[in-house]
Amino acid sequence: MKHHITILPSGHQFDVVDGESVLAAARRAGYALPYSCLSGSCGSCRARVIEGECMQSSSARALSADERERGDVLLCQAHPQSDLTIAVREVPSVADLPRRMIAVKIVAKDLLAADVLRVRLKPPKGEPFCWLAGQYLDVLLPEGKRRAFSIANAPEDAGLIELHVRKVPGGGFTQQLFDAYPVGSLLRIEGPLGTFVAREDSERPMIFMAGGTGFAPVKAIIEHFLHLGSARPIHLYWGARHVPDLYLPDLPAAWSARHPAFAYTAVLSDADASEAERFRRGGVHEVVLADFPDLSPFDVYMSGPPAMIEAARHRFLAAGLPDDRLYYDSFEYAPEVIAAILAARAGLKI
Ligand SMILES: Cc1cc2nc3c(=O)[nH]c(=O)nc-3n(C[C@H](O)[C@H](O)[C@H](O)COP(=O)(O)OP(=O)(O)OC[C@H]3O[C@@H](n4cnc5c(N)ncnc54)[C@H](O)[C@@H]3O)c2cc1C
Repeated sequence: MKHHITILPSGHQFDVVDGESVLAAARRAGYALPYSCLSGSCGSCRARVIEGECMQSSSARALSADERERGDVLLCQAHPQSDLTIAVREVPSVADLPRRMIAVKIVAKDLLAADVLRVRLKPPKGEPFCWLAGQYLDVLLPEGKRRAFSIANAPEDAGLIELHVRKVPGGGFTQQLFDAYPVGSLLRIEGPLGTFVAREDSERPMIFMAGGTGFAPVKAIIEHFLHLGSARPIHLYWGARHVPDLYLPDLPAAWSARHPAFAYTAVLSDADASEAERFRRGGVHEVVLADFPDLSPFDVYMSGPPAMIEAARHRFLAAGLPDDRLYYDSFEYAPEVIAAILAARAGLKI
């Protein structure tokens, strides 16, 4: 059984087969709808059902009761029960890039902080890997498991792919990457993925907000704008617990030297007495709002831990930022890990 989907305002159309989510079918058909975590947690693929019936799986946690009431759905968890018309903005630039699976070689591992590793990956000769600034790739693991990592360099920086990986305590993959994958070993990856990309069709000033290794895709997008010679004002806020967690401390100053309208604010959530004098303190999104209580003139890009993204999304929209000018990637755990954690909390075994 198939259902026919029409996207507004583009008018693009595609079919969804039984068991498939609307998002999966759109990607299969080559349409680039916004998405990030694919697990119902981040809300990037939120859309409005204009006409038709659609079932949401119970994993659509990022939807509030109000949003459900208004007819919003998360397309990664949406299964049509009839033909549908949905309203959602597309990200056309992403549609043009082919997604590929390749084996890449780890050519460098540099510890940037006690728990942050910069990994440089080299694609095989004659098989260049193309991406848009801000996109991510999946590392493919045994048993069909995969882990997402943002690409931390701009595509103009051709040749190597850079990742910034935080070591997650008890993490299945990141612990191994730190300790058990020597330089020279191979990783299988799939990409490019995601729709958190530089939007070049705007003249507005930009605010970037990163939490921890959420700096990775933000770095790629800023480097891309610098490469383009953009004159748009850029204000970067980078939030972390302590100073060493701001793991590339000289880079914002280097960007400042290249771009006359670049500003940088470092924010520490757990600053100790010596740090407190030199840095802004608190939640990074609170500091953004203290500086810019009216966000309506800006394009805002943000990336980092799910709790930061969720809190900031609501507050930024309430501060006048239109929904379609807020771009984000939320660093959710993999869908099967979230499901296992939720099941463990509920006392279930899966
Ligand atoms: C779009 C996107 C981009 C991302 N980009 C980056 C990036 O650039 N850099 C980065 O560092 N991360 C990034 N992430 C996060 C990354 O994909 C991984 O989720 C993260 O690195 C953890 O992977 P892991 O295999 O080490 O841990 P996992 O094995 O996924 O475990 C995560 C945590 O869950 C706990 N856990 C696992 N199973 C259970 C269970 N059954 N019960 C209770 N607890 C459990 C583990 O102990 C651990 O603490 C991104 C995520 C997304 C969605």
